[in-house]
Amino acid sequence: MVKSILEPLKLSTYSVHLPLKHAFTLGNGTSRTSTPVVIIRLAFNGYTGYGEAAMPPYLGENHETTRALFEKLDFTRFTYPFNFEEIHHYLESINTGNQAAKAAIDIALHDLWGKIEQKPLWQLLGSDPKKMQATACTIGIDDPDKIAAKVLEAADFKFIKVKLGSTHDKQIVEAIKKVCNKPLYVDVNQGWDNKEQALEMAFWLKENGVLWLEQPFKKENFTDQAWLVERSPIKIFADEACQRLENISQVKDLYHGINIKLMKSTGIYEAIKMLKLAKLNKLETLLGCMTETSCATYAAACLAPQFDYVDIDGPWLIKDQPFETPVLIDGKISLSTKPGLGLTLKPEFDQTNFM
Ligand code: MG
Repeated sequence: MVKSILEPLKLSTYSVHLPLKHAFTLGNGTSRTSTPVVIIRLAFNGYTGYGEAAMPPYLGENHETTRALFEKLDFTRFTYPFNFEEIHHYLESINTGNQAAKAAIDIALHDLWGKIEQKPLWQLLGSDPKKMQATACTIGIDDPDKIAAKVLEAADFKFIKVKLGSTHDKQIVEAIKKVCNKPLYVDVNQGWDNKEQALEMAFWLKENGVLWLEQPFKKENFTDQAWLVERSPIKIFADEACQRLENISQVKDLYHGINIKLMKSTGIYEAIKMLKLAKLNKLETLLGCMTETSCATYAAACLAPQFDYVDIDGPWLIKDQPFETPVLIDGKISLSTKPGLGLTLKPEFDQTNFM
């Protein structure tokens, strides 16, 4: 038997807590000043692909759970590492969680694929840069005067997504409207628990120029969500309630659209399946992100032209990161013509951080 001339994939990782520019407070009661991420390198036959696991608290992942998954991986079983279906099937066979850690592997493999094919990933994924949507910038819950300062900082963005679910939701929206007239999106992160008040707010938000609302109630509260979606004057998107492909059948009649994120979907491979199934079910599609570096954001950006709305501002929420921040032109992330994701490591980044 002829032995494969391909080397097995070789994984190295850099686990870090990246400081955020501002404390990030959400309607689910969480607040944090840094975000845990694991940047990975996958080496294969002289090429290097980069991936990232960015882990918000609600996913239940952290540096240790990511390491535990990676220690179980056996890449020697794959002689051809770009059969994404086979590799994802293997990852799911290890366990059904670890979505962000799996996304890191998926993203690095896609970066490698582009580098070996010498083509930008967006091109391999069939995205048309002319259809790129402007991305929103997210503003966490804060005092109204601090909110206004954050909105002014986001001058390069054409849309503002504001987090609600506080004791002073209307004041937050009013504070934004005092300093800008950009279209607004609202994300409640499961923070409301009264359906009548939620409906009153939906009408008030509509009057105040809000285009849509995301995840008003707890993800398992199907009853109130069904009541609200029948009456709401604005569209409602599922985020926490729709993480994987299998969730679409549960939420398709309860929401107008879904928020797809690579860190929920285990990466690009399943995100594409979710996008197709959402469109088949006439759901609107929003591409979202976590507080993440340019690595995961560029991976998402390669798919962004295929979505109705885009909210991938992770790198702008982080104070310092290993990669150069993407360039915004007219509020749209500029897709790189370089092979793969199109990432550039900052020259000062120390490669010996990878272990
Ligand atoms: Mg959300």
